[in-house]
Amino acid sequence: MYPPDLITGTLVNYYATCPREAWLYSRHIHAEQDDENMLMGKTLAELKETKLQDFPFSYLKFDRIEKRRGHYMITEHKKSMKNPEAAKMQLLFYLYVIKMGLKLKVVNGKVVSGRKAILVEGNDENMKRMETLLEEMSLFLSQEHPPLADKIKFCKLCAYRNYCF
Ligand code: SF4
Repeated sequence: MYPPDLITGTLVNYYATCPREAWLYSRHIHAEQDDENMLMGKTLAELKETKLQDFPFSYLKFDRIEKRRGHYMITEHKKSMKNPEAAKMQLLFYLYVIKMGLKLKVVNGKVVSGRKAILVEGNDENMKRMETLLEEMSLFLSQEHPPLADKIKFCKLCAYRNYCF
């Protein structure tokens, strides 16, 4: 069984985009390092790491956590929103870990990209949804081989495309 504690926000994002991509990433198969999207992502991640190094959940790579009227709000900035659903699930993963880890009553979040913002509620329904997704991912990532590549609309911008086609 793939250890659930090895599942990260990036992995959740990849799984929501393309399970094959998540499987490749989970096996430390590195995507094209000179891919423009990959380089931008790496730089952003490094910046976030520096900013968050004192935070106890620093392995979670979101940008900001703040308290508003007794409620917590997590903000995640994306350079682009090529897959809003994947960005939403990645943020929901952060909400889930923070809510469970700190036993918070209310925690919500938003993903911001340019002028676009998606609000994600950390309600019970969404927590259950994430719990189910994590179980599903853990089972899926335990498979010895990845599923075959299937062309989808995200392939064009995917840094793994050389592994697939
Ligand atoms: S190129 Fe397409 S099929 Fe291959 S990992 Fe990327 S999104 Fe998935």
